[in-house]
Amino acid sequence: MEEWRRILADSLVKPKQLAERFGLDAEELEAVVGPYPMRITPTVLATIKEKGDAIWKQVVPDTVELADAEAEDDPLEEDLMSPVPHLVHRYPDRVLLMVTNQCPIYCRFCTRKRLVGKPGFLKKGELDRAIAYLRDHTEVRDVILSGGDPLLLPDHLLERILKALRTIPHLELIRIGSRVPGTLPERITPRLCEMLKKYHPFYMNLHFNHPDELTPEVKRACGLLADAGIPLGAQTVLLKGVNDDPEVMKRLMHQLLLARVKPYYLYQADLTKGTNHFRTTVETGMQIIKALQGHTSGMAVPHFVIDAPGGGGKIPVLPSDYLVHMDEDGVVLQNYEQKTFHYPQPSANGKRELPMVGAYAASSSTRDGYASCGDSHTGKLDGFAAWGNSCGGDYDDL
Ligand SMILES: *Cc1c(COP(=O)(O)O)cnc(C)c1O
Ligand code: SF4
Repeated sequence: MEEWRRILADSLVKPKQLAERFGLDAEELEAVVGPYPMRITPTVLATIKEKGDAIWKQVVPDTVELADAEAEDDPLEEDLMSPVPHLVHRYPDRVLLMVTNQCPIYCRFCTRKRLVGKPGFLKKGELDRAIAYLRDHTEVRDVILSGGDPLLLPDHLLERILKALRTIPHLELIRIGSRVPGTLPERITPRLCEMLKKYHPFYMNLHFNHPDELTPEVKRACGLLADAGIPLGAQTVLLKGVNDDPEVMKRLMHQLLLARVKPYYLYQADLTKGTNHFRTTVETGMQIIKALQGHTSGMAVPHFVIDAPGGGGKIPVLPSDYLVHMDEDGVVLQNYEQKTFHYPQPSANGKRELPMVGAYAASSSTRDGYASCGDSHTGKLDGFAAWGNSCGGDYDDL
């Protein structure tokens, strides 16, 4: 057995084990784990510092999950947008394909709580049907393998899927969404990376919610993937009591960048049944974005989105303060320090555009330098050298 399989098998899955370890009521846990399975990998267990902390809340079953009877199992209506089993076609040019319903851990707030961790997911022939659908739909240029967690498939099965996808000529991008690097880093083996890099352009979006998840082993796993040329993004769910705090979120974003992972999405929590105790106000997310934008590297700022209930897809939500006013003359903007600025529209008064540009170019010597850079840059190799010189950059000095 591969090492990572053995480690995964060492995970906590039985309420009794958990109850003994933390002094909890095993019967209560049993009641939750019936409908909503649990799994806590050794890496994640080791990261829990105390009962009730940010890691604990994400993985330890809680009876409040059962007190959420009113909510819906599938608020994003994924099942209604599924032309063939396990494939969700919501957007014009990309689809989501769920290749397994197994995960390294079962997040208590999971949007797909209705299906993860239960037996009997993929039936014979279903993957072939999904691939056939993709082959027929030439408008699809981007496929996201999801689940569940695709990286829980053994290498040879995962490769079979990737290979089949790469026989579809109109398919440009393949992406995988995964929580494995952050929870079962041993799964990221050099062999896996060698295999994945054959299927470029191949992207991965990793799931991380708290800075404590970025342990040295986890960072090493991300580094192996990055070294295989796989651009890594991060998806984070805004969770009450876990990361609904600008300081925690800033630390998370910084840790991600240190792990060579670019923050991609910050999700407002969905309305999924059994998860509503994790929801925050929408303002909480906007405050977090405001606390990041301008205050730290732009690379550290994810898109804050709400996946619209009813299947509307992801909709970006920006703090409303940035755009104070907009009309045909221009916009009034407010920056991260609450200072206001005016930006004129090009067509303002129907005549402002040309004089403005001319005046600017003539009055600025750096502007001339810039122009000559542009000119020589379009030239041949000596042009390129001239570009270096005219910009004050002598390559020998670099
Ligand atoms: C999130 C999602 C995608 C991908 O969306 P991007 O904004 O391109 O990352 C595609 N399909 C479904 C159903 C999704 O939920
Ligand atoms: S890893 Fe992803 S799919 Fe699996 S339980 Fe967590 S959030 Fe859900």
